[in-house]
Amino acid sequence: MPTTKDQRPATRIGYGFDSHEFHPGIPLRIGGIALPHDQGLGGHSDGDVLLHALTDALLGAIAAPDIGTLFPPSDPKWKGADSVVFLREALKRLRDAAYAVANVDACLILAAPKIGPHAAVIRTRVAELLGVHVDCVGLKAKTPEGLSQENAAVAHVVVLLEKATKPRRKR
Ligand SMILES: [Zn+2]
Repeated sequence: MPTTKDQRPATRIGYGFDSHEFHPGIPLRIGGIALPHDQGLGGHSDGDVLLHALTDALLGAIAAPDIGTLFPPSDPKWKGADSVVFLREALKRLRDAAYAVANVDACLILAAPKIGPHAAVIRTRVAELLGVHVDCVGLKAKTPEGLSQENAAVAHVVVLLEKATKPRRKR
């Protein structure tokens, strides 16, 4: 049998889930984008449910500790924090593990606001943050039919990583 120095898997998958409750009078951020709405998502940091699920998917793919372990919600330091900080930490760990993002696919579940008109700008921003082409970022939005979660936003994200063949350029 041929032996190779690098026996890591060529690809790895990751999955992330997150949910936050809507509260009046705070800004709504989804996918690193401020969306016009009369309510925002409370809880951890800026409540960016999509970036949190994405961060957890990336961390999970390399079996790193999850977002709540790395950035405890009980730590006042993270109150109102820009969730891009968490994503960047996950991406740093990915680079250290010599993996790169192949593609991501996300599903948002929320009653309002409508995501359709903002989907392109969210996909573009997420692609920019990940350093991948926008065609490598899938985003679907669903309304919570029969789920009785009108006051919450939920995100599910899956990612595929591939072994980085050469050091990635910072974009
Ligand atoms: Zn969260």
